[in-house]
Amino acid sequence: MGNLISNIVSLAKRRGFIFPSSEIYGGFGSCYDFGPLGVEMKNNIKKAWWDEMTRQTFSSKNLGGQIEEQRNIVGLDAAILMSPKVWQASGHLTAGFADELVECKKCHKRFRQDEIVGGRPPNIFGRGRTSAPVACPECKGELSRPRKFNLMMKTFVGPVEDEASQTYLRAETCQGIYLNFKNVLQTMRLKIPFGIAQIGKAFRNEITPGNFIFRTREFEQMEMQWFCHPTSADDWFEFWLKERLNWYYNLGIKKENLRAVEVPEKERAHYAKRQVDIEYKFPLGWKEIEGVHNRGEWDLYNHAKYSGEDLKYSSAGSGQAYYPYIIETSVGVDRSLFAFLCQAYTEVRGGRTETTKAVKEVEILLKLDKRIAPVKVAVLPLVKNKPDIVNKAKEVYQLLKPHFVCQYDELGSIGRRYRRGDEIGVVFSVTCDFQTLKDNTVTVRNRDTMKQERVVISDIVGNIGHTFL
Ligand code: ATP
Repeated sequence: MGNLISNIVSLAKRRGFIFPSSEIYGGFGSCYDFGPLGVEMKNNIKKAWWDEMTRQTFSSKNLGGQIEEQRNIVGLDAAILMSPKVWQASGHLTAGFADELVECKKCHKRFRQDEIVGGRPPNIFGRGRTSAPVACPECKGELSRPRKFNLMMKTFVGPVEDEASQTYLRAETCQGIYLNFKNVLQTMRLKIPFGIAQIGKAFRNEITPGNFIFRTREFEQMEMQWFCHPTSADDWFEFWLKERLNWYYNLGIKKENLRAVEVPEKERAHYAKRQVDIEYKFPLGWKEIEGVHNRGEWDLYNHAKYSGEDLKYSSAGSGQAYYPYIIETSVGVDRSLFAFLCQAYTEVRGGRTETTKAVKEVEILLKLDKRIAPVKVAVLPLVKNKPDIVNKAKEVYQLLKPHFVCQYDELGSIGRRYRRGDEIGVVFSVTCDFQTLKDNTVTVRNRDTMKQERVVISDIVGNIGHTFL
């Protein structure tokens, strides 16, 4: 991993964003725990996505002749454990959801075949393309022939661990959505086109997890499945791709760091009629953070076939019954969080003026969008040894705490405290000083402009709240 990445990893650990899982036992297979700031940031990303999906109205009103008053997307939280039949129908238990594994005959390290022969990383069902083996990247030893390695994580339900009780942890969240297509359609009295959004954990027994939280065996996905008429699927695909790119731009990802890559047919998931990967330019290189797929009728057709249920949509108007096409947008929470961290991480050499006159070292500034920043406000008494100022600051902290994620900090010089805040992306720093005691005003410092404004304490909640609207 590059220097930049190790700096980000170290910041994430030092400041309570991300810890290695089971650390006191030496860690555990590329699993991570999200600390107090990590969980706030994750929740903010999930909220930004959820709101975008379920609360937006259409920005475009002219889509393939379909004009809708509102974007109709409802939520779902399906179980992680499902009948193993689901995974037969979806194709995950067959060779489709498998990577090709090669082992070095000399050092016995294992690799994903596609990773060491180069090229784009594979996608579900597109995994496992065979290419000519090369030598071991570690010791140049001879590699074994590739063999299929299924990525589904097995588990047992009930007290007897036999084949009858075996099932799997879900490898993607969307299957729960397909199974509930009819339930949601009927209970919410929806008409096509509409969407179902879900956020939840997924599990894949990845051969080569790594690069911090980029590829882990347990991760979270935010997936939206858009059910539409087959003839409008192409237009919807374009629509959703654009919407998804805008979502990232809107939350601070720079245009030059994001690209949409059309996946050629031979590399596509076999259900996918079209697939575009949204890639972010990580310090490690361009890597996928989200997939937009036209899954056609693949999923509903197969679940209908395997379950015997009629999963067709009947249009009241035309009397037509058909399998809707599905446009899927699928993003990893952890992976996008990593991208947001990389985008925000800034090193300021020589320091930012007010804080570091005497300090020569590099200052870190986390320029996270204010909606994603884990801590919105820091409350600081100018000095620690004046009880009146400290008490006032504590009062202001109590006032703000029910409204924003806040931190109270009285340790060290005010400059140092600003720096500590900048490092975790604190959006506003509120300082109580001598003037506060005279006129009940505080200074509000903006992280990005470093401008300070005097605000009356009774206006502070509204003043800060206003900027988050
Ligand atoms: P990759 O090619 O990187 O293995 P994929 O194409 O298999 O990913 P999808 O099945 O399309 O990924 O999943 C959608 C999203 O879920 C990905 O864009 C990514 O953000 C996230 N994701 C998938 N696998 C992992 C993983 N092992 N760890 C973290 N996030 C993941």
